[in-house]
Amino acid sequence: MPGFELWSDAERKEVTEVLETGILMRYGFDSARKGVWKAKSLEEAICNKFKCGYAQLTSSGTAALTTAMAALGIGAGDEIIMPCFTFVASFEAILSIGAVPVLVDIDETLTLNPEAVRKAITPKTKCIMPVHMCGSMADLDALKSICKEHNLLLLEDACQSIGATYKGRYVGTIGDAGTFSFDFVKTITCGEGGVVMTNNKDTYVRCDNYTDHGHDHKGGADRGADLHPFLGYNFRISELHAAVGLAQIKRVDEFLSIQKKNYKALKGILATVPEISFRIVPDANGDSCTFVSWFLPTEAITKGVVSTLKEEGILGGNFYWYDNNWHYIRKWDHLKNARSPYPVSDAQQQALLKLQQQDFSASDAVMSRCISSSISLLWTENQIQERGEKIVSVVKQVLKSSLTSIKQL
Ligand SMILES: *Cc1c(COP(=O)(O)O)cnc(C)c1O
Repeated sequence: MPGFELWSDAERKEVTEVLETGILMRYGFDSARKGVWKAKSLEEAICNKFKCGYAQLTSSGTAALTTAMAALGIGAGDEIIMPCFTFVASFEAILSIGAVPVLVDIDETLTLNPEAVRKAITPKTKCIMPVHMCGSMADLDALKSICKEHNLLLLEDACQSIGATYKGRYVGTIGDAGTFSFDFVKTITCGEGGVVMTNNKDTYVRCDNYTDHGHDHKGGADRGADLHPFLGYNFRISELHAAVGLAQIKRVDEFLSIQKKNYKALKGILATVPEISFRIVPDANGDSCTFVSWFLPTEAITKGVVSTLKEEGILGGNFYWYDNNWHYIRKWDHLKNARSPYPVSDAQQQALLKLQQQDFSASDAVMSRCISSSISLLWTENQIQERGEKIVSVVKQVLKSSLTSIKQL
């Protein structure tokens, strides 16, 4: 999955160019930087590769989400519908701009269930935010038509699905705005970083200003002459981080093709077990293949497989999100208790405490049976074969013993 696995001279070279000028900031210092503009170059490369009109780099994927929401005019009291399976960053961004996260069920796509989204719409709903989890994508046609019907914004959290496509377009470029993360474990990395992509110029200009304290970037070489049409923050990426990303984006097709090859090989081995089924991928050709996500028939069998994989020392790289503290509602006690170091707004507090009573059994029924096997770029064919066969043998062993224990009952 992650680009850091193939760290190379290409990244070292880009970073060295920045170190040689000593200009680590993306704005200003025009003559001293000697024509080296890594952040600008990376933004151009993102627009070219992912076919979007505009790209604004940020210091993280979380900052990219926050920036996108601010630029789309989402704020105090507005509700954003999001899935209950994602990384915590999705709701952190919502809370940071004063909006209210409304969490709803996922389905076997491991992303938003469009019917659950429909039921969660209220007069305060402003935006639907699908999260394209684990390399694949949400059912964007269904979500787009809900947005159209109810006049809502569509913001794609595509942080985990760099290079995935839906019906021929890159995820993250289809909604009103979309984001990637370039943190250390994503498909391509900057070390830390993120990007907002959009095809709307006004949204882009607001992103550009917002991430740099509101600077309108119209003052020429003199940053002090820039005006501040509205409030902003500092969510800037540094030239050093952008340099790493610039090397990585040139290699993204190579990473994706290795990923796809290794995914196919591992999935092929798992598919030999009739009791194993796979996540639904709305556009099967568009999966970026960072993970193979698969289901077992019951929670008990899945837990048996997870614990046996652990006992045999081969759980590494296989994720059981249902028990994971960071990716699923079940373990987000800090969220459900509105535990914040500072007081949150009444609207946020009420919405968060309500999560304690909300029924997520439909998502539990999916997540409790799901294992996601991450795909390494470094595997040899033999290693994939060995890995797949070990998993299959554990699955068969657990299936057999569960049959025996049923018979004993
Ligand atoms: C990684 C990630 C983010 C946030 O990215 P950071 O760069 O780590 O802040 C947001 N959403 C999802 C789904 C992620 O996986």
